[in-house]
Amino acid sequence: MTEEIFNYTVRCRTCRCKFEVQLFDTHEKNLFLVDKKTWFCEKCKKEYFDKRTAQLTNEHKNVGFQEITGTQKMVSWAVKIRADMLNKVRYLQESLTFDSHEAKEKSERAFEMFLSEWQAQTEAKWWIDHRNMNVRDISKRIGEISEAISKE
Ligand SMILES: [Zn+2]
Repeated sequence: MTEEIFNYTVRCRTCRCKFEVQLFDTHEKNLFLVDKKTWFCEKCKKEYFDKRTAQLTNEHKNVGFQEITGTQKMVSWAVKIRADMLNKVRYLQESLTFDSHEAKEKSERAFEMFLSEWQAQTEAKWWIDHRNMNVRDISKRIGEISEAISKE
């Protein structure tokens, strides 16, 4: 256990500029990281996140989602969370099988209603607060919606 903090000079993968980082492990492990890890300077990191945020925002627009609002940092994080959560929904939907056409249609309607609940959420904070929602949670909510549909 070492309390020492070491400064290391690393090189940005994108623009090749040199910059300093602080690493907290043993000197040996730190040297390994300096060598093996892909480093990006603050400027390139910001550009990367901005580009990814714009790209994901665009993809989500195509499936009925609006732009997320909040501070730039929160939006960048929230959009990534939304992408991961949408992947979980897709995964769940693809894993389902139905024994009738009617059941399939009902399920599709439940998924649509479920997604419209998410589409109403445009604040970064909501997505960040819900980032741990897993496939089981999603499945549970879709089950509730399905049940409500059945009672109509
Ligand atoms: Zn750079």
